[in-house]
Amino acid sequence: MKLLISAIHFASRAHAGQLRKDKLTPYINHPLEVMQLLSKHGDVRNETFLCAAVLHDIVEDTSITIRDIEKLFNTRIASIVWEVTDDKDTPKQERKRLQAERAHLLSEGAKLIRLADKISNVKDILHAPPASWDIAERRKYVLWTREVVQPIRGINPPLELMYDELLVRADDILK
Ligand code: ZN
Repeated sequence: MKLLISAIHFASRAHAGQLRKDKLTPYINHPLEVMQLLSKHGDVRNETFLCAAVLHDIVEDTSITIRDIEKLFNTRIASIVWEVTDDKDTPKQERKRLQAERAHLLSEGAKLIRLADKISNVKDILHAPPASWDIAERRKYVLWTREVVQPIRGINPPLELMYDELLVRADDILK
């Protein structure tokens, strides 16, 4: 519990001032939602996984390094964060392709975070989308998340059901 509170504190400071793609929502809402999805809906109790969920976008989106996470937290948390960190030097489309292609190789904790991350992102695409995205772009994003989630299936049935219900809603909203 103490470690999780430190992770929340650390992530709030690291993401301070950053906004989600709708340019209104504080960025920290997203990693907190991923943690909440795992804990509340996925019944995940593993503190390492919950800490990694809170920290999952820090290396990708702030100046914090994986070494910092290792030093301030521990190697297990750092290794999960590393697994879900995309290499920003790789072009965006290639990054997306690799995420889907490598999803089945992820550890249990990283798979859980990936799944909850996609749920959180799809929710945003449906209800608080980036201002510049049209329906086609939003639909394309949702379709891509299916490629990432498919190889992960079997990891957490309640969260998978939640994701599937979101897809039904997406069909309706993104007509
Ligand atoms: Zn994320």
